[in-house]
Amino acid sequence: MKITKKLLFICTLVACAGLPAQAETKANKLFGAKSAASQQAPNALGKYAKGCLAGAQQLPESGPTWQAMRLSRNRNWAHPEMISYLKRLSAEVATIRGWKGLYIGDISQPRGGPMTSSHQSHQLGLDADIWLLPPKRLNLSLAERENLSSKSVRAKNWRTVNSNWTPAHMAVLKAAASDPAVERIFITAPAKVWMCDHAKGNKRWLQKIRPYWGHNYHFHVRLKCPAGSKNCKRQTPTVKQLSKNATGCDKDLKWWVTTALEPPDSNLPKAPKKPKKRGARDYVMADLPAQCRKVLTSK
Ligand SMILES: [Zn+2]
Repeated sequence: MKITKKLLFICTLVACAGLPAQAETKANKLFGAKSAASQQAPNALGKYAKGCLAGAQQLPESGPTWQAMRLSRNRNWAHPEMISYLKRLSAEVATIRGWKGLYIGDISQPRGGPMTSSHQSHQLGLDADIWLLPPKRLNLSLAERENLSSKSVRAKNWRTVNSNWTPAHMAVLKAAASDPAVERIFITAPAKVWMCDHAKGNKRWLQKIRPYWGHNYHFHVRLKCPAGSKNCKRQTPTVKQLSKNATGCDKDLKWWVTTALEPPDSNLPKAPKKPKKRGARDYVMADLPAQCRKVLTSK
């Protein structure tokens, strides 16, 4: 009798044979359900792809030189450093011919954290997607901002840019990368190749621009950890460590538009399938910094 009682007790703590275990709610469901920021001091906690954000601010949906897009997603929340950056960058971009300012896509959820869809990163309020579509108007209605699409700047062969790409795009990227708050920027490789070939004068700003898959409709700006966010983890390897020279216009960049696009050699034995890596949508609260629990439960 005693043993049965003990077993029953254990059964309530852990799943017993035959009984389905109660799955722990995933962190992305918990953070995805929050509609407003935590009333805490701004603090980016953890890693860009495994963390959360205390005391976020909401980017106003429209400003003199920007509009936030897809507002139904409620992802226009950010660390105040990112809000300041987007305001000053968009003001600078508004001086570039053909660009009235910026259309700004996803930044973060109100409390950062893993998302229910898309992005692995964007968890600290320090990553922002900026459309590669030059805004013609900055008075789009909410509905227009749900339905308008950006335009790809990548050619069908994935090796070059297409006719949507213009020298003004490079001016936008140069302004974005030259800001000292920026850690790195991701964009489709053909765009970086084009900029390496066409940039004039001091080209050091190009080092912060990193080639990556996708990112042909938007570029992705990542800011450095803000001075006050002691638990924000700096990304390694750094862009300097990744680059073979001062610009990152190197053989690794060429790889993205050559070897990487070639079909696999059918004569080679197939590599064994690697086990699937856990990602943002698999995380439970225990995977995130301990302070993220407070971020979630705080007013
Ligand atoms: Zn992004």
